Amino acid sequence: MTNWTQAKGPGDSPKSNAITDVACPFCGLVCDDLEMARDETGLKVTKNGCEKAVAGFERNVNGAKPQIEGRDVDLETAMRAATDLIGASKLPLYGGLGTDVDGIRAVMALADKTGGVVDHALSEGQYRNFRVLQTRGWVMSTLTEARNRADVFIIVGSDLHKLHPRFFERIVNVETSLLTEQPAKRTVVFIGKGLDQSAVKGPRIGNIITLPCELNRVGEIIAALAAEVRGAPIGGDNVAGVPIADVRALAELCQKAAYPVFAWAPPSLAFDNADLVVSMVSDLVKDLNVKGRAAGLALGGNEGAISAGAVSSWQSGYPLRMSFASGKPDYDALRYAIPNMLATGQGDLLVWIASFSPDLGPPATKIPSIVFGTPGLKLAQTPSVYIPIGTPGADHGGRIIRVDNVVSLPLRNLGRSSLPSAANLLGAIELAL
Ligand code: SF4
Repeated sequence: MTNWTQAKGPGDSPKSNAITDVACPFCGLVCDDLEMARDETGLKVTKNGCEKAVAGFERNVNGAKPQIEGRDVDLETAMRAATDLIGASKLPLYGGLGTDVDGIRAVMALADKTGGVVDHALSEGQYRNFRVLQTRGWVMSTLTEARNRADVFIIVGSDLHKLHPRFFERIVNVETSLLTEQPAKRTVVFIGKGLDQSAVKGPRIGNIITLPCELNRVGEIIAALAAEVRGAPIGGDNVAGVPIADVRALAELCQKAAYPVFAWAPPSLAFDNADLVVSMVSDLVKDLNVKGRAAGLALGGNEGAISAGAVSSWQSGYPLRMSFASGKPDYDALRYAIPNMLATGQGDLLVWIASFSPDLGPPATKIPSIVFGTPGLKLAQTPSVYIPIGTPGADHGGRIIRVDNVVSLPLRNLGRSSLPSAANLLGAIELAL
C-alpha cells in the first residue's frame, strides 16, 4: 500500500499540545498569530481566531472514506480509478483549485502532462482585478504598508468584515505603527449601503463616514469623486442618492490625506461590469498620486486563489483560465473559463480540488468527475471518484501566498488528521501516467 499520508511541510510539529504563531489558511489575510490547543478530540482555537478560523480548524474531518460512485473503497483503489479516468481523458478540466502552493504546482504539472485546462473556482471575481491590471496597470499597497501608513481607508462597496473577519482588527485598528510612536486616529469611509461596520472600533478609529448608495451604484460615486479630484465637478445635487456635498467632502479628504487607501474585495463586487469600478478606482488612485500619495488594496483571494494565480503565472507565463491542450500554455480568459466550458459541453472530465472550506463544492455536471475534497465538502451530485484530502496548515504542512501577493507564509502540520495532501495525491497520479 502506498503511503500518501502526512505530507511534510515547513514547521511540521504535530507533537506539542499548545501551539502558538499559527498561520491561518481560511482567508486571504493568512493571519499568523493564532494560538491553538490540541487534544484527542481535535484542535481548539484559543486565541486570535475569528469565527471563520474556528470553523475551519475545529471541524471534524475524521472518518471520511474515499469513494467510487458513492461506495466506500480504500485509498489505493480510489487512486487507481482516478488515475485511469485522468489517463483516458482527452480534455480534463482542473477546477476548484482550493489548495496551497505545492498543490497548485502539482495541478499544473498534471495539467501539462494530460493536456488539461486550469481555472480557479473564484476566477470570476479575480478577473474583475486581472482585467484592469492587464489593460491599465495600477498603484497598489500591501497589508503591511496600509497597516503602517494609511490615514484614511475608503472601503469600496465590499463587505470586508464578512470576507476577512480580522481585517479591521489587524490592519486598521492597530495600536502601533512602524513609522511613529504616536500614531494618529484613522478615518474609515464606507462607499455603499449595508456594509458591516461592527468591527470598526477601537483606539485608532476616528471618523466613520458612510456614503450609503446601492452597492451596484458604487461606480457612480467613484466617477463623481474622480471628477472632483480632476477639477471637473459634476452638476446636480446628488449622485446615486448621495448628496453631492458628501462626495465633494470625500474628494477633499482624499486630497488632504497623507496616504488614503482604497480597499475592495472583488467577490463583493458581484454586479455587471464591476471591473469598470476597479478600473475607475485605479485611475482615481493614479490621479491622486499626481500631487500626493494614495494606493489601492485588493482583498478577497480566499480558497488559495492567490496561490493558484501566482503559481500559474510563474510556471506558464499566464494567469488562470489556461489550457495545455495544444501542448503548450494557451491563455484565454473567456474560452477557458471552466463554468462556460461545462455549460457548452467542452471537456470530458472534471477534476475538482477543494481543501479549505466545505463550501467550495464542484458544480453539477454531466461529465465524469473526480473530487479531491475536504471531508464534508458540499457535493451537488455523486462524483465518479471522491478522495478526502487534508487542509494545508491543519492536516499537513505547506505554503500559501497572502492576498497582497507579496508574502508567502509557511503553513504548519498541526496534526489534526492524517489525511493526504492534494500535492502528494496529484503528484502520484502524474508519476503513474
Ligand atoms: S481573518 Fe482570515 S486569516 Fe485571519 S483568522 Fe480569520 S479566517 Fe483566518
